[in-house]
Amino acid sequence: MALSQRVGRLIGVRQHRVDPGGGGPRRVPRPVDAVVVGGGIAGMSAAVVLAERGVRVTVLEAAPNLGGRLGAWPERLADGTQMVEHGFHAFFRQYYNWRAVLRRIDPGLGFLKPIPGYPVLSARWPTEEFGRLPPAPPLNLLTLLARSPSLRLDDLRRMDRDAALPLLTYDPVGTYADLDATTAEELLDSLRLPDRARAMLFEVFSHSFFNHEAEMSAAEMVAQFHFYLLGNGEGLAFDCPDEDYATAIWTPLTRHVERHGGRVLTGTAATALRRDGDRWRVETADGTGYPAGHVVLAVDPPALAALVRASPELATAAPELVARMPAFGVPGPPYAVARYWLDGDVSRRRAVFSGVSRQPTLDSVTLYHRLENEPRIWAGRTGGSVVELHAYACEPGVPAEELAERMRVELGTLWPEFAGLRVRELRARVEAQAPAFAPGSHATRPGVRTDADGLYLAGDGIGTEFPSALMERSAATGIVAANHILRAEGAATEPVRSIRPRGLLAGRR
Ligand SMILES: Cc1cc2nc3c(=O)[nH]c(=O)nc-3n(C[C@H](O)[C@H](O)[C@H](O)COP(=O)(O)OP(=O)(O)OC[C@H]3O[C@@H](n4cnc5c(N)ncnc54)[C@H](O)[C@@H]3O)c2cc1C
Repeated sequence: MALSQRVGRLIGVRQHRVDPGGGGPRRVPRPVDAVVVGGGIAGMSAAVVLAERGVRVTVLEAAPNLGGRLGAWPERLADGTQMVEHGFHAFFRQYYNWRAVLRRIDPGLGFLKPIPGYPVLSARWPTEEFGRLPPAPPLNLLTLLARSPSLRLDDLRRMDRDAALPLLTYDPVGTYADLDATTAEELLDSLRLPDRARAMLFEVFSHSFFNHEAEMSAAEMVAQFHFYLLGNGEGLAFDCPDEDYATAIWTPLTRHVERHGGRVLTGTAATALRRDGDRWRVETADGTGYPAGHVVLAVDPPALAALVRASPELATAAPELVARMPAFGVPGPPYAVARYWLDGDVSRRRAVFSGVSRQPTLDSVTLYHRLENEPRIWAGRTGGSVVELHAYACEPGVPAEELAERMRVELGTLWPEFAGLRVRELRARVEAQAPAFAPGSHATRPGVRTDADGLYLAGDGIGTEFPSALMERSAATGIVAANHILRAEGAATEPVRSIRPRGLLAGRR
């Protein structure tokens, strides 16, 4: 264990148990059936736990492939078929619940390879390195402040330290009471940071949540600082699969669910939810109805709002859920993903993954030919490279190819050798499915439990009472939904874990 982790442990920076699990027999004592709508991380995490505990679970996934925003599918290129992903993902080490699900398919998590470094690139300032900090607070923060050329002692003196206190005093109730009505932008303005520190240390971070600072709750930003930097003992380092997500995750996880008696149906969109006595019936596009005692809706926010709208019986069965949907269903801004197959490589010095600060469109760059086996082989055979560019919160109404081209040109200004590479293939997409974390949205954010018996929600937009975000929130809410069902049916629950629940200086609020 690193020194910073030992120091961190002394002040409670360690894994915390949200639910210790247990409290009954391991398997449900009588026949129970459940339908999970959505085969992304949230839905499959729920399905894994339910199937293992003897629940007859059916997953309905609308798309031809599983995984949702972590999905992968084959694409035909001029010189053969390649797997393409919805987008590069960083598997952080404090994703305890998501990693617990993944351990079902690989107990040692050997398929996750550490990614060295986490540089942030800028056209104006030298690269800032986040990946090589000590893992645990407070030493990671102190090292960042001591080492970062973006923040000098003088800057620290000039900044408004009282305004910065909320970053260190995260509290799952108090932070939202104090800051949910404020925007992340207003909070950052109030710190009076030098422009460079703001760009290199804060903006890159807040962009990663698929929301513009001016439209994101300051409380959510503080919660994410706590989750990623100031409250976990594992740090900002992360790992990634060395195969595409279908091969590494979705195929083995489907097999796992099926081995435990569950069913996973792709290409099967749920169209409405009906009450059937005291049970549920999920209707699908081909007219089939799937009856179940319990239903977990594990779809993205716009899809959840659409499904609720198409289910008039929910107006009496779940009026609170219905009332929350119009606002919840509005997604965050569009995000763009462009994967380029190029005729040459960038410099050996370039990192596998880099964040980008203050470019109009580009937010990150991933060198897939140095990350996953299939692109590595393609690049070895052709002498080319496979580079994925992301924009996490971009201008609405711009076509995917146009965003891809803007990102390509912007990267050329940061990495001159990239500008000279010829494009052989491009797959570009723009989507809007990420949850919005608008100011004031916390009070009406739906939680896992709904106001209808036997109806639960899971996903990265669903509220949790413990720190979590993105993939980890999807997995955690999926497990929490499964636990509600197991508890209702008299079976033991699955453990749920999180990081230190409150900020390092939360006692000072
Ligand atoms: C480009 C990009 C990069 C990202 N990078 C990271 C990262 O580095 N780290 C990180 O932690 N997170 C990252 N994320 C976020 C992460 O992908 C999400 O938090 C997570 O995958 C959400 O999972 P989910 O199961 O909640 O929702 P989804 O993945 O959206 O799954 C919902 C599923 O429901 C299905 N569905 C919708 N409607 C219906 C219906 N009517 N019937 C049946 N099925 C339906 C959808 O097809 C989908 O498969 C990234 C996201 C994107 C887009």
